[in-house]
Amino acid sequence: MLATVDALLPLSLLEAVRDVDTPEGVLEAEFVDELRNKRLGLSDTVYTQIKRYTESVRRNQRTPQDEAIALAKLIGRRPDAEAVLRAAGRFLAREAYMTVSPVTRGVLKVMPSMISRPLAFRKTRRIAHRYLNGNVRRVGQFILLEVPRSVTLGVAPGSTGCSFYESTLRELLRLLVGTTGSVEHTRCEGRGEGSCEWRADWRGADRTRGE
Ligand SMILES: [Zn+2]
Repeated sequence: MLATVDALLPLSLLEAVRDVDTPEGVLEAEFVDELRNKRLGLSDTVYTQIKRYTESVRRNQRTPQDEAIALAKLIGRRPDAEAVLRAAGRFLAREAYMTVSPVTRGVLKVMPSMISRPLAFRKTRRIAHRYLNGNVRRVGQFILLEVPRSVTLGVAPGSTGCSFYESTLRELLRLLVGTTGSVEHTRCEGRGEGSCEWRADWRGADRTRGE
């Protein structure tokens, strides 16, 4: 069977490219036409693709994994690859968070951690499964995210590509739990370790939320 990813994944990659390439301030905006030719993120191709993926997200249509990998490779060639991938991860996490019902989001904010934590864990697991093809488990005070088929693996030097998933997990936990604890890349397919795995410490959440 053809490997696929949720269309939100390629969409997040392109939204990040567009965002990073969008000039800030009025002065620079005057040169947008000139920049358009040089900056991928402002090109009509990217605009058209963003519309296409947005439509796919709306219709719940998945994208071939290879298509997402090709996009990640394009980003990987940029000198600012890591910044773009991290922005993409944050975008994906925020959009995925918005698929959690407002009632649940409210519960997560107001309930004590004894109640909110298991709920946040289930949401994290569901989101990682759907949007990252990843597996999430809990070990003590840690949340582990395993991604067997990374889209961004090896697209840039070292483990730069892996920062996409790290950024997604970090932002997701910030939104769901209120924690901004450390996220470590504990295992990497890039080092021949079978798959990529990240470990997030969500112990600090209680302090952050003032509970
Ligand atoms: Zn990795």
